[in-house]
Amino acid sequence: MARDPRFDILFEPVRIGPLTAKNRFYQVPHCNGMGWRDPQALAAMRGIKAEGGWAVVSTEECEIHPTSDITPYIELRLWDRRDLAALRLIVEAVHAHGALAAIELCHNGLNAANRYSRDIPLAPSCLPVLAGLDPVHAKAMDREDIRAFRAWHRRAVALALEVGFDIVYVYAGHGLSLIEQFLSARTNHRTDEYGGPLANRARLLREVLEETLELAEGRAAVAVRLSAAQHCGGGSLTLDEVAEVVAMLADLPDLWDFCLAGWESDSVSSRFAPEGYQESYLRRLKALTDKPVVGVGRYTSPDAMARIVREGIVDLVGAARPSIADPFLPRKIEEGRIETLRECIGCNICVVGDWTMAPIRCTQNPTMGEEGRRGWHPERLPPRQSRDRVLVVGGGPAGLECALALGKRGYEVTLAEAAPEVGGRVLREARLPGLASWLRVRDCRLQELQTLPQVELYPASVMSAEDVLAFGAEQVVLATGARWRDDGVGRHHTLPLLFETKLARLTPDDLMDGLRPEGDPVLLYDDDHGYMGSVLAELLCGEGREVILVIPAAEVASWTRNTMEQHRIQKRLLELGVRLELAKALLAVEDREAVVACVYTGREQRWEVGGLVLVTARLPRSELFAELCRDRERLERAGIRAVTVIGDAQNPATIAHAVYAGRRFAMELDADPEAVEAARFIRPVWRP
Ligand code: ADP
Ligand code: SF4
Repeated sequence: MARDPRFDILFEPVRIGPLTAKNRFYQVPHCNGMGWRDPQALAAMRGIKAEGGWAVVSTEECEIHPTSDITPYIELRLWDRRDLAALRLIVEAVHAHGALAAIELCHNGLNAANRYSRDIPLAPSCLPVLAGLDPVHAKAMDREDIRAFRAWHRRAVALALEVGFDIVYVYAGHGLSLIEQFLSARTNHRTDEYGGPLANRARLLREVLEETLELAEGRAAVAVRLSAAQHCGGGSLTLDEVAEVVAMLADLPDLWDFCLAGWESDSVSSRFAPEGYQESYLRRLKALTDKPVVGVGRYTSPDAMARIVREGIVDLVGAARPSIADPFLPRKIEEGRIETLRECIGCNICVVGDWTMAPIRCTQNPTMGEEGRRGWHPERLPPRQSRDRVLVVGGGPAGLECALALGKRGYEVTLAEAAPEVGGRVLREARLPGLASWLRVRDCRLQELQTLPQVELYPASVMSAEDVLAFGAEQVVLATGARWRDDGVGRHHTLPLLFETKLARLTPDDLMDGLRPEGDPVLLYDDDHGYMGSVLAELLCGEGREVILVIPAAEVASWTRNTMEQHRIQKRLLELGVRLELAKALLAVEDREAVVACVYTGREQRWEVGGLVLVTARLPRSELFAELCRDRERLERAGIRAVTVIGDAQNPATIAHAVYAGRRFAMELDADPEAVEAARFIRPVWRP
């Protein structure tokens, strides 16, 4: 199909210094938990972005020196020449598809505890390092240190050029980089020519930028990544100050890349910020320079992308998450296939990889992080290897992805879903406060499924064992999901609690079904530590209910630190007036009295409650599997060769896990078992 002319503007070339980006799609730097540890996998991932049509594909931050070591987090390194081979892999993969390769050179300054290199952390002023709560201070850099840093940066630029990068970054963003720490009065308390007034604080940025431009000498473009504002507390850089810096350097760099600091303010989840919430910052800064500007905003709709270019908010549409969710986003728009876009849902599961030092995963794109290890491609799937027909029971994220990927491989698939609509948990959870965009997990798959003649969808079809046996498919996949427990078993208690009460023990499933606790106050016991407890507290507060949130941890929703939401969740609950009872576990409910105990001292308290909601653990819905497996001969007689359980029905986990399980079954059906097994392991670190 031809491209919609409304989007022509997105395919105009953009001059960046001595180079030309072939269109306006710019994959800004993003971490991925692969970095220096697994450069082949990283290069494969970046190469697929280039193949997907991004004009510029950037690396994540690349540490330029061992004094910038943020172990245990895994980014790229350019500590010395031995790192060049890994970087070359990335450049080659990006160039192979005609994109420009950008490298985000970075010194982490105060953010680097140097746990591996054991070098002395360096910062503008002597302050405790930001990484973790390490009891380590950074040394206040003297003039010699500043000279050394500039020399390291120059060396890194020269090496990056030698490897063939087209765009070299001077990084002053996200509060993470030394140069920005010099810019900000929050971290720069110096009284010499690098401290005090803004012009002094910006001295290092100017020096490094000028030196980088001199080295690039028209061979490569030089980008400055700058936080448009810092949201890090007292003394942070304001938009006014940043505007002053931009005005000072206006047309010096070849490209401005504006972000927000810290990272958690730049990559806000959809629960807390809409698409394009950075626009007011971008608009103000763009007006100060004639050089091209790239900015992000988790834009997933081509209309919004075309609008921000037309309105002069950016010249290049920056994307990290939208490019993760759909590496082929530009190509799909160009080829007029926007109905096949996998729009990012803003869940921030991709961010978890970085925080947990594991390869990146994405809810929408199960191939993310598996391009190198498993050889998965977001668009191309291997053709079927047999004529087996597949019955998928359950139309949640696992079942939908499984049916879609099998259908694309050419298998004949029937998907049966008990509910009147497919979607499973995303259909239900998307109705909860702040989670509406999660429905995209269902919508994009459903849209594509409806175009595949070899896949048949049967909603409102509860499948019994007899139905499955009578159906006559050779392969049966059970993606029947899970249900929340109502007996208190979770992480803290692994055995059921004592409930001697007539109060209903409601679970998240019950609340999603429309049931509500009898009276107030509602005791909401969250031993799940993810988003669900806080979302339900919000739901109940929004309906005027009085909520006591009991959590056997010192903060709410601890796991959501990994999605960079924890601080926002705690703030929201405090603002809503939820009574937070932290570091307490529910022990029992006797009549209308809840017994809770401090998790440290065991000291008990008793509170009168009017309702009870338990957000603890989940159990697979495994009845159908048990019934089918009761008599294996019966399966054989029915011609069923295999019954496979996937997703939450196997092990309840995230939506991303379920989607991945669906894709994995589809990819591994009839595959060579040895190849499948070999892909389990990350290849060893690649050094020359
Ligand atoms: P997952 O996250 O693993 O995809 P979900 O809970 O989202 O799991 O989806 C499971 C889906 O399976 C639900 O929509 C549920 O209605 C459906 N389901 C469960 N049992 C049956 C059954 N026996 N027949 C048809 N559909 C079923
Ligand atoms: Fe978007 Fe979620 Fe995928 Fe990240 S994990 S790119 S936020 S859909």
